[in-house]
Amino acid sequence: MLPDCIFCKIVAGQMDGKILYHDQEVTAFLDAHPVTPVHILIVPNKHIPSLNQLEEGDVALIGKMALIARQIAREQGVGKSGYRLVINTGADAGQSVLHLHLHLIAGQRLGSRPI
Ligand code: 5GP
Ligand code: ZN
Repeated sequence: MLPDCIFCKIVAGQMDGKILYHDQEVTAFLDAHPVTPVHILIVPNKHIPSLNQLEEGDVALIGKMALIARQIAREQGVGKSGYRLVINTGADAGQSVLHLHLHLIAGQRLGSRPI
């Protein structure tokens, strides 16, 4: 856990926030400023700043995050209607929280273009 990291604090239960999923490796919670009707963040419990710091040993972890995102999408009722997973990495992508996170966005037509 990195002191002063917002997402580390959420993982540790030290911040307000609606947690939808939590196990020993991964936590999912509602985004505080949703951009779509469904906007959920899926994070590794351990502090990894971004995709750039992901290591070979983390391959199973990020795969698990994708499967949890799929499960949450089903639970939120958008599994069939559709959803998008986004990982912002670095300044040009607008990454604002330096703890790796997968955005699950859904609940409206997002269009076919990635942005
Ligand atoms: P990024 O821009 O880094 O890809 O996304 C960071 C996301 O974290 C944003 O969508 C933002 O709304 C969300 N966020 C920032 N601070 C908090 C917080 O304290 N709690 C929660 N639940 N979400 C946050
Ligand atoms: Zn962190």
